[in-house]
Parts: sequence; structure tokens; C-alpha cells
Amino acid sequence: MLDYIIVGLGLSGLAFVDKIANENKSYVVFEDFTQKSSRVAGGLCNPLVLKRFTVAWQANEQMKIAVPFYQKIQNKIGKDVVLDLPILRRFNSVEEQNTWFEACDKPILNDFLYPELIRNSNEALDIPFHYGRVKHTRKIDLAILLSSYLEDLDQKGNLIKDSFEHDKLLHHNECVEYKNIKAKHIVFCEGFGVHKNPFFNYLPIYGNKGEYIIIKSERLQLKEILKSSVFIIPVADDLYKVGATYNNKDISDNPTNSAKEELVNKLKKVIKVPFEVVDQVSGIRPAVKDRRPILGTHPSYKNIHILNGMGSRGILAAPVMARALYNHIEKKYQLPVEVSLHRFDKAFELSENK
Ligand SMILES: Cc1cc2nc3c(=O)[nH]c(=O)nc-3n(C[C@H](O)[C@H](O)[C@H](O)COP(=O)(O)OP(=O)(O)OC[C@H]3O[C@@H](n4cnc5c(N)ncnc54)[C@H](O)[C@@H]3O)c2cc1C
Repeated sequence: MLDYIIVGLGLSGLAFVDKIANENKSYVVFEDFTQKSSRVAGGLCNPLVLKRFTVAWQANEQMKIAVPFYQKIQNKIGKDVVLDLPILRRFNSVEEQNTWFEACDKPILNDFLYPELIRNSNEALDIPFHYGRVKHTRKIDLAILLSSYLEDLDQKGNLIKDSFEHDKLLHHNECVEYKNIKAKHIVFCEGFGVHKNPFFNYLPIYGNKGEYIIIKSERLQLKEILKSSVFIIPVADDLYKVGATYNNKDISDNPTNSAKEELVNKLKKVIKVPFEVVDQVSGIRPAVKDRRPILGTHPSYKNIHILNGMGSRGILAAPVMARALYNHIEKKYQLPVEVSLHRFDKAFELSENK
């Protein structure tokens, strides 16, 4: 009998699988490539909310675990996927500059915010009110990281490239059974795919679609990440990711013209040189109204667990949440109430009584 079945290898699945692999647990991973959120993400490892110059929920603490986590995986796969890349925040007004300096004085922020205005020297950019600079941020190349990790799992015989069929899962007292596989536990890390999961689709995880355009511009010559009304993220020679959009009405899979138009219009307000849109990508963020992840054990089945609800900050949250879930399952540690799935037990009871 295996220790674990894991369903889904996005950021959540990766963080949990890596934890159990380090603990020498036996496991198999199912992945069907139906959700793309982690593979198309911008890869920003940034603890700040750059609209308001505040720290995202527990992001400072998460950063201390997340950065070494990705660096360790980088060493394991032998590819440079974690890049030190500062973010330049374009100011829109003198008021914003003042808010930046007020933020610089706060102890929780002063390690991240460089307390000086930076003048723009790149003629391709329109930056009348200068920049602020965010330190210690990273860009993670998630597409390469995830595909290399999957390849490694495949070579070790730990990967099944197939859709997990929930109606074929049997739960016994001491284990679960799926087709011919028995395991002590199953952990669902399906992202927005959870809406097809009859064990957990009572949870209020809604889809928030995000899109990026990929542009080519020889004259832009931007080396840092630029944040204006959109992020401009250097990805390769003369290629940049621009985005992302947020849309909780459209949960279709494919990129849209309206998102492209929105992003092109925003970009034109910041860059003054020609560019060409060469590609567009989209994914659905697994978001929760209270903006907290959801993890824990099913209210009725002690061997069935979930790790989900990472919203727009999966890079920072997933490694910490995976560790908390592992300790909950294996060592019976309590989960923090703000991330426990038991905050939705009322919704579970209602779904049972339908
Ligand atoms: C455009 C965009 C930009 C983003 N930028 C950032 C960023 O810069 N920084 C950041 O921290 N976060 C960012 N995010 C958010 C981040 O991507 C999410 O928080 C994260 O991807 C969630 O990871 P997950 O593993 O929980 O879900 P997912 O990435 O959706 O992974 C779930 C996996 O489960 C698989 N799966 C589902 N159902 C089944 C099934 N039945 N059988 C087998 N496999 C199944 C799917 O194929 C998928 O691979 C961005 C998101 C988007 C869309």
C-alpha cells in the first residue's frame, strides 16, 4: 500500500509532493493538464501589495520558507529557475511618492522598500513621477520548474498522466482505493478543477481568470520587472509578459480578445516604443472570498484531504500550506483556523441536506 495519492501538480501539488518525498513517503501523482494557472503564472515571488504598499497576508513569513524551497528544487532539477529580479513601481503622482515614503518608515516594510525616488533613464518608458524600488523579490520560471519536476516524477514511475475519476474512489476505514491503487491518504490539489470534485465542491472556491500577452520589443531593453497598471516582466531576449487581468465572470479556458485589448491599451500608456503581441496565455486562479487558502481533512472521511484556494499568491503560500497540511495529517497538528476547511462546515452540512 502507498502512503499517498496526489491529484494535481500545480504549485500546491508540487509543494505537497516535495514535502512527502523528503519524508520518504511512497506516492503516485495524477495530472491531466486541464488547469493551467501555475504554468502560465507570472512567477512573481513578491510579498507586497503594490497598489497600496502593504504586506500581503503572512507574506513576510511565507517568503522565508518559499525562497529556500524553490532554490532547493532548482538545485534538484539542475536548471536556473529562481532569478533575483527587483520590481520597479512606477508612481502615478506626487501623492503616491509620499505614500511610498510613509510605507518605507514602517518596520514591516522597510526591508523591502528602497527609500529613494529612482529617476528613469530608459527612453522607451514614460515615467514622469519616477519609480520606487522593491528589494528581495524573485521571478520563478514556473513553466520550466513544473515541467522538469513532472519529468523527474515520470522517470521515477511516480506519475500517471490521466484524469482522476472521482466516482471510482473507494474509502475504507484505514485507506482509500482507486482502481488498483491503495493508499493511506489522498490529497486533492486540483486548483479550480475542484469544482468537478464531489468530495469538495461544496467549498466556495471560485475561478478568477487571468491573462497575459507576450510582447516582442527590441527597443524596450527592460532588465527589471516594471509595475504600472500592469506588470511588464522580462522573459527572454526582447520578450516580455504583460499582465495580468482579473476576471471572475468568464471561466472559459482560452485567451480572449477583450483581455488583449485591455492589456495593449494599458501598455501603450507606459511604453513609447513599438511592440508586437506574439502570444497570449490564460489560466484560472483558484480564489476564495476571504482570500485565504483552504486545507484540511474532509469532514466525513479521515483519509481524504485538500490543499487549494491559493488565489493570486500561490508561489508564496503553497510551500507553507503544504507543510501545515502534512503536519496535520502525519502529526495531528491543529491547522490555523483561518486556513482550515472547517470554516466552511456549514456549507458542507447544507450540501449534505440537499
Ligand atoms: C495569469 C496568472 C498570473 C499569476 N501570477 C502569479 C504570480 O506572479 N505569483 C503568484 O504567486 N501567483 C500567481 N498566480 C496565481 C497562481 O498561479 C495560483 O495561486 C496557483 O497556480 C494555484 O496553484 P494550484 O496548484 O493550487 O492550482 P493549479 O495550478 O490550477 O493546479 C491544479 C493542477 O491539478 C490538475 N488537475 C485538476 N483536476 C484534475 C484531475 N481530475 N485529474 C488530474 N489532474 C487534475 C490540473 O491540470 C493542474 O495541473 C497567477 C495566476 C494566473 C492565472
